[in-house]
Amino acid sequence: MQEWTSDLKFAGADPNWKNILADSIRLETWSERIEPIASKLAQSIPLSLEDGLTLYSHHNLNEVGKLAGLVKSSRFGEYAFFNSNVHINPTNICVLACRFCAFRRSKKADDAYEFGPDVYADELAKFADHVDEVHTVGGLHPEWIINDYEKMFSSAKKRFPHVMIKALTAVEIKHISKKSEISVGETLSRLAKAGLDSLPGGGAEILDDEVRDKICRGKETSAEYLHIHKTAHQLGIPTNCTMLFGTVETLEQRLQHMIDLRELARETNGFQCFVPYPFLPDDSRLPEAQLATGSEIVRTIAISRLMIDTIPHIKAYRMNIGDNLAELALQYGADDIDGTVQQELIMHLAGSSTPLDLDRNRLSRLIEDAGCKPVIRNTIYTKFSEFERKEIIPPRRLKMSS
Ligand code: SF4
Repeated sequence: MQEWTSDLKFAGADPNWKNILADSIRLETWSERIEPIASKLAQSIPLSLEDGLTLYSHHNLNEVGKLAGLVKSSRFGEYAFFNSNVHINPTNICVLACRFCAFRRSKKADDAYEFGPDVYADELAKFADHVDEVHTVGGLHPEWIINDYEKMFSSAKKRFPHVMIKALTAVEIKHISKKSEISVGETLSRLAKAGLDSLPGGGAEILDDEVRDKICRGKETSAEYLHIHKTAHQLGIPTNCTMLFGTVETLEQRLQHMIDLRELARETNGFQCFVPYPFLPDDSRLPEAQLATGSEIVRTIAISRLMIDTIPHIKAYRMNIGDNLAELALQYGADDIDGTVQQELIMHLAGSSTPLDLDRNRLSRLIEDAGCKPVIRNTIYTKFSEFERKEIIPPRRLKMSS
């Protein structure tokens, strides 16, 4: 069983991936529309917004997927990644009311809740012997300041030093910094000292202020999202970044979002994973949303892989898109399907029916069925280990891949 480590820049990728990609692209035949794009990729030229539009309108989705699959396999070979994690959301009380959000509650709501630091650590204790990551995001609590989060993270870290804390969206960082009357930089430094290991990148939605005004008025601006992540990267805190699509945005706005994140990553090398996921409509207030179809979801994942050359990992977020599409997306450029996820609230309240508490054997089986080799990773993509299934799972009647 192979184990290896990597630095934050390559995050497990083959450092020679651009040459591998150039060779593999040249060995294939491409249609007239795709050939100029393939040629740019072979020369490591970043794709333009117009290239992205061509990829969205190209009738042959499989050709787009094949190109994205080549980029993925040049970086990571046959590997696909997952981890062992749990989501704990310390409060659903939020001063904002984003129209796509099914999770937030007002302070007076019957089902509003909040955990103190001890309850947070007690919650984690239920899972700590079989996870090495806790994913923590929550509402913008009207009273909590930085001391509350410092206590929460330091008490969890003290009890469970092996569990990495991936926590807080950019708007939570902004809110905590404002409530505590300190800068974003000081907020991030103090939280890192208390045990914060990385930011999950949620809340990017679409980095276009007109779209944000329609779907999440009051949240951080696009520039603030980028600034908060840049500050984290400058402080040595790695982050992921996301894209919520299928609300009211145009294809141009989606592509510009990818380009903005790509260019920040070129400057900082601090993003490790891009997570594009579609809007789920249950219990939200966005009737005009143009819900994404299955083929649009895998196409968007493939296009993310092709547009973004500076962020190593593209995640097919199974909590949102379900296990079946996540498995398929591994053949369309994604290399990661997130984790075992022992419990999750936000996506499930919005309509996700993805099973929780999937053990590592079942998750690795899903990866193998997509023709990939499962690799278990840590939160920040610096430690990797090939995963060998130990438990016997009844064989499928049809052989799924070889
Ligand atoms: S998405 Fe976050 S900030 Fe917006 S309402 Fe929901 S919990 Fe609050």
